[in-house]
Amino acid sequence: MSIDARSTGNAAVSEDDRSHVFHSWSAQASLAPLPIAGGSGTTVWDEDGRTYLDFSSQLVNVNIGHQHPKLVEAIRAQAATLATVAPAHASAVRAEAARSILSVAPEGFAKVFFTNGGADANENAIRMARLTTGRDKVVSHYRSYHGNTGAAVVATGDWRRIPNEYARGHVHVFGPYLYRSEFWAQTEAEESARALHHLERVIQAEGPQSVAAILLESVPGTAGILVPPPGYLAGVRRIADEYGIVMILDEVMAGFARTGDWFAFQAHGVRPDLITFAKGVNSGYVPVGGVLISDEIAHHFDDRVFPGGLTYSGHPLAAASIVASIAAMKEEGIVENARRIGADVLGPGLRRLAETHEVIGEVRGTGVFWALELVSDRDARTPLGAAEMARLKASILERGMLPFTAENRLHVVPPAVVTDAEVGTALEIIDAALREL
Ligand code: PLP
Repeated sequence: MSIDARSTGNAAVSEDDRSHVFHSWSAQASLAPLPIAGGSGTTVWDEDGRTYLDFSSQLVNVNIGHQHPKLVEAIRAQAATLATVAPAHASAVRAEAARSILSVAPEGFAKVFFTNGGADANENAIRMARLTTGRDKVVSHYRSYHGNTGAAVVATGDWRRIPNEYARGHVHVFGPYLYRSEFWAQTEAEESARALHHLERVIQAEGPQSVAAILLESVPGTAGILVPPPGYLAGVRRIADEYGIVMILDEVMAGFARTGDWFAFQAHGVRPDLITFAKGVNSGYVPVGGVLISDEIAHHFDDRVFPGGLTYSGHPLAAASIVASIAAMKEEGIVENARRIGADVLGPGLRRLAETHEVIGEVRGTGVFWALELVSDRDARTPLGAAEMARLKASILERGMLPFTAENRLHVVPPAVVTDAEVGTALEIIDAALREL
């Protein structure tokens, strides 16, 4: 095919993609990416015109659904006015985007630093913590993902850190995960208390005077949608205060309606010092992320230079889409919809599936953020094997639903605009695919 032609049809687009696009996190030779040609709400379609219910929200970012007309129009209008502007200029739409985000944040936050995505949001939050404390180390969870740049990927705990360990000063701890407790805990209260004890002991052993930040996902997402037990995040806040450590909560995946709140930590009664965001803030219609900066930390840089910046910080197309997205979420009750769906429809529906399918070891989640932990032996909690997971994924796709799988888990993560009827269809598809398995 000539390089100026655009291919159509699943086979041709897939082949064109495989020939010229280098994909993330993969050995390239065996890839067979499904082409996505268009979408609307919770539905997408491929290049052959086949439709799918998107219960992956792509990379758990399309919280407002596909092609929301208010976002598309806002981006179109901004493109017609001013499509790009340097970060050193003031920009009305950028300031409005910051105000929109701050309007749903806790008290004590008046400034936003914009980045290109989630990884560099964490990168800059770590930088702010190091500069304000004069300390170096960052403590994070083994079960975590914080992004694919210098410090963020080393703060990450999962396998992706290991081939990328070039940043220094990173320390990891185990967080709470009662189903596979590292602490021999039997109850959530035990798991929370012992995980906090472990965290505090590691900080003491590392030397509290060397620890700049504790960086955690409010609800670890890719690691398994591990909703923290009551009291855990409040305990982390107490430890951070005790030792003068900056508490950074990564809300990149969990924020902006995913858990049924604007921010996931709001259900846990804590206020972090820095909040990182991306994904759901504008559902990824234009790449963007950022850091909400508490007043204490923001003031540190009133008379000191902040040594960080990005050409596209607060890009106007991203800013316009943030303003439109937060307005639409407020007007259309999208956060409330996510909360109701989780509590009344999706959560109960998944728990019903667990009553009939032995392979479901645990159901956990909140809002539109759920995981089924799949096991080959319920008593031993043996993770379901990779071959069965691949068959399950193919079977769900074949039935017209885009799944999100990670290790032995099916993450059920639709857009926050999902309807009761769409959840009903998805539950039937998962039921049938598990039956076939
Ligand atoms: N933090 C969390 C919790 C994430 O889930 C992700 C991406 O999945 C990131 C950070 C990185 O975001 P990005 O891919 O936009 O750099």
